[in-house]
Amino acid sequence: MDALEKLKLLGPPTCFEPAEEVVGSRRPPPCRSDDDLSGCVHSAVMPGGKHIALLKTLLTSACERDCAYCAFRQGRDFRRATFTPDELARLFMRLHRKDIAEGIFLSSGVAGGGPHTQDRLIATAELLRHRYDFQGYIHLKVMPGAEQEQVLAAMRLADRVSVNLEAPNAERLARVAPHKVFAEELLQRLRWIEEIRRKMPGRWPSSTTQFVVGAADESDVELLTTTEFLHRQVGLARAYFSGFAPVPDTPLEDRPPTPPLREHRLYQSSFLLRDYEFTVEELPFDASGNLPLGSDPKLAWAQQHLAHAPVEVNTADRRELLRVPGVGPKGVERLLRERRRGRLRDLSHLRKLGIVARRAAPFILLDGHRPAHQLSLWPT
Ligand code: SF4
Repeated sequence: MDALEKLKLLGPPTCFEPAEEVVGSRRPPPCRSDDDLSGCVHSAVMPGGKHIALLKTLLTSACERDCAYCAFRQGRDFRRATFTPDELARLFMRLHRKDIAEGIFLSSGVAGGGPHTQDRLIATAELLRHRYDFQGYIHLKVMPGAEQEQVLAAMRLADRVSVNLEAPNAERLARVAPHKVFAEELLQRLRWIEEIRRKMPGRWPSSTTQFVVGAADESDVELLTTTEFLHRQVGLARAYFSGFAPVPDTPLEDRPPTPPLREHRLYQSSFLLRDYEFTVEELPFDASGNLPLGSDPKLAWAQQHLAHAPVEVNTADRRELLRVPGVGPKGVERLLRERRRGRLRDLSHLRKLGIVARRAAPFILLDGHRPAHQLSLWPT
């Protein structure tokens, strides 16, 4: 099998492994169709907003673990493939020189142990950086059980590193990935990453994780409690939520898929935790600990708390403004700057600041007046 054929087997499955910033979507943006490389090269949004053509691939689809949800679990009968580091580095550089791929996301099944697999991922990145002098974007996966020096080596080579926790805690993980050890094998790697960033001066990569949502009967409150912990304690840049999809010939093949809307509500809530100063206790969970699928969590919170106690846009502090639907972190910064120049008196003023005025209107006062009252008192 030549390298391109291997890529066609090892690239497409990474569609189920969200890796970079994706605005308002549950999966990476549609694969960039490039003849036969559709499914391997994606238009991905980088931290900072730049879009690049990202090659996403596994180093190997051989795996000695037996995660119940996974297509690559050991013993499952399908055509597997493995790149050598040299083969993958050469193939990537070929695609890079043809302007097909600008960056690479590199993950892997576990073959020969976590440390051995990590060595091969590192070797690939080293070839790219040192033999081929590739300066572009590299996202490296940190394998379960990778050693501390390997984590450091991966961080020296990559722009982003990630550790897939898969489930929100040890109990849930044990149900679906019996041979992964939540705290020692996975979470500890995220702690090391943060420790290195804090203790060693330098420009270090961001870190992310992924949860498989709906495989282990976990609730949203469990997922978001862990997400909040990761943002606050280990400097996680982003949690990705990948809805469970049943794979034939696995123990979970008869389990229904997770509705995409659940992923969406989890993303919305994780942004509230990361960027809007919400705490997990404030999120509108139902009695079973799940987010109602039918409502936007920020809107639901505002309807409960702000409908009868609107926020005065001219005097509220940053945190209060962030709670208003339609107002994001950038809008708040613009609004605070604009306030120094004079009072804000109508919705059109907010619109000019990039605020979604119609969403904000029911929850704000503009110079002491509810916008709707102003409209009814002073019809145009
Ligand atoms: S370790 Fe990763 S690749 Fe292997 S079975 Fe588990 S999820 Fe799949």
